[in-house]
Amino acid sequence: MLLVSEPIVGEEEKAALADVIDSGWLTMGDRVRAFEQAFAEAHGAADSVAVNSCTAALHLILHALGLGPGDEVLVPALTFVATANCVLYVGATPVFVDIESADVPLMSLADAEARCTARTKAVILVHFAGYLPDREAWQAFARKRGLMLIEDAAHAPGLRQVGTFGEAAAFSFYGNKNMTTAEGGAVIARDAHLLETIRQARGHGMTSGTRQRLNARTPTYDVTMLGFNYRMNELQAAIGLVQLRKLTAWNEIRRALVAQYRRALAEYCPSVTAPFAQPRTSSFHIMPIVLPAGANRQEVIGKLRDNGIQTTIHYTPVHLMSLYRELFPAVRLPRTEDFAAREVTLPLHPRMDAGTVERVATTLARAVQAEATAEAVP
Ligand SMILES: *Cc1c(COP(=O)(O)O)cnc(C)c1O
Repeated sequence: MLLVSEPIVGEEEKAALADVIDSGWLTMGDRVRAFEQAFAEAHGAADSVAVNSCTAALHLILHALGLGPGDEVLVPALTFVATANCVLYVGATPVFVDIESADVPLMSLADAEARCTARTKAVILVHFAGYLPDREAWQAFARKRGLMLIEDAAHAPGLRQVGTFGEAAAFSFYGNKNMTTAEGGAVIARDAHLLETIRQARGHGMTSGTRQRLNARTPTYDVTMLGFNYRMNELQAAIGLVQLRKLTAWNEIRRALVAQYRRALAEYCPSVTAPFAQPRTSSFHIMPIVLPAGANRQEVIGKLRDNGIQTTIHYTPVHLMSLYRELFPAVRLPRTEDFAAREVTLPLHPRMDAGTVERVATTLARAVQAEATAEAVP
């Protein structure tokens, strides 16, 4: 089965893990610190904080920014549920915003503007599929309204522009992301003081960690704020250090595969559209396509599966999930809903080559064609 994504791990990661075991120190220590510095450097940032997931990273950012009950946070609904969940974690209210269009399925600035109230405090931008929104436009909007800008950069590691939009950015190293630590995440923040607050809140709000106390003369610590246990461990950091060295090359392969996909789709299945037709800075995290209106998506997905090709859907919109329907029953986002109903995500990862892309595109063309023919029969 050709998978939508797969982690690329091998001998180097095994050796790095063996080194951690041999070192006798498994919990957050020198490797986590080295990973934080290397990750920051890769993004042109002064420092970063490593955590055990992007969800934890988002929670820490919202917590450290002081968002809470009574505050509204603008979020896209075309995202993974964690983007909205983290708003609920701090007691604030997520306000769902529609996408711009099926071609640019990023949060619409006009709709964000329309949904602003006196309680709106922040915006969480999601770099959907790896493509970056218009930074200057969002910064101007945030300045005008006095809003904080937060990046959910789970799809976009390895781009220098990421982490420069606003207050802070959250990254994910889950197994299906552009680089992985099995589970893991990181935070980059503009303000060094904010980043240090996040660093302390990551470890129970303690003033020092176990590893630091090993080298200190006084073995005590204080707790000066409410914190969490969102630490990364040495095994994760060891994998992360290896993966980070390959990230740029992997993102380049992704770019070439996406260009190949665009050519092949235009040639074999012109009724299918690929969003982001215009060039835009991207880490090319996933390959979303939009089926023609009226096509039976389940049939197309089934035909691809019969041919050994896995597909997924990005995403079932968050406001349509049962939990969120119950909490916010009145939300209507027509462009998001239409996009999500027709979207299919094709396989995209650096182990693929031009031949694999060709096979997916031709198989998709047959599936869509068979679908259209079946529809035509009365
Ligand atoms: C994967 C993902 C997350 C959550 O990442 P975890 O590391 O699994 O917590 C959040 N937001 C988006 C957009 C994601 O794709």
